[in-house]
Amino acid sequence: MNKKNQKKLYVTITMDVDPDANIAVEGSITPVSPEMDRRISIRETRWGLYILFRIADILDLPLTVFWEARTLNLVNLTWPELINAYRQKKNCEHGCHGYRHEDYDGKKSGQKLSFEETKALIGKASNIISRTFGCRPAGFRAPYCRLTDNLIKALGTFSFQYDASITVKQDKSPPKPYQIGEESEGQIREIPLYQGRDSKGEPVSGYLWQLFEGNRTPDQYLSLVQGTARKFPGCMLQIAIHPWHLRANKKNQSPARIGKAGVSKLWYFLKKLQKIPNVELVTVSEYLGL
Ligand SMILES: [Zn+2]
Repeated sequence: MNKKNQKKLYVTITMDVDPDANIAVEGSITPVSPEMDRRISIRETRWGLYILFRIADILDLPLTVFWEARTLNLVNLTWPELINAYRQKKNCEHGCHGYRHEDYDGKKSGQKLSFEETKALIGKASNIISRTFGCRPAGFRAPYCRLTDNLIKALGTFSFQYDASITVKQDKSPPKPYQIGEESEGQIREIPLYQGRDSKGEPVSGYLWQLFEGNRTPDQYLSLVQGTARKFPGCMLQIAIHPWHLRANKKNQSPARIGKAGVSKLWYFLKKLQKIPNVELVTVSEYLGL
């Protein structure tokens, strides 16, 4: 269904499924998890996926999930019932978040990936997601939200319908879809992330990063949704979550201490979000009518 009601704000809950608290490092195109001696861990991501699934199930929330293909494989190998639960969930869309969370533009690694390298990685990732869930991913979110021209071209090659990596700011433009890429090389739609301002004029984005780090409250994010609904009806606001963030902080520390508070703050936020007038929760594909 193409969502065209110009009185409502459409909100999608997105999840970037990637290794625990991953960070880009110099000299490597793939990330590491802090405290892991230059390796990655997925322990907190797996638990976060389980918790988010339970919450989405109880509250009947649509989800748009961007899978890093290597993490998807690892979770499937070690906890297949969990992936099976996502496979069977209604209103759950499966998109792509790279093969091994590559630093495609080389900002940190120092190695910008060519079109051929980018295409090979996106093809591999897309195949793993298709094989696991039985349908090709329509959506993509670039690791670190850093979209390159080579990525846009590669996404067109594999028939992706949209990207969701670029952030628009309140003062500049509304969070509504627009075309990206060269016409001659196949265009796709951009579904932008959004950064608004709080009552003090400070920037606040739809990523719940600062909620889980303890720097913002659920009510501040509810204000962001209400403000966006007033300013930009008919548009789409993405609320973005990393599953690992429910159990660990950005340094991959103290899961036991942070876990409980993170889950209860998220639960409070989502329950209130569902009740905001003129807000409808959907997947991105449902919003676009794909
Ligand atoms: Zn990521």
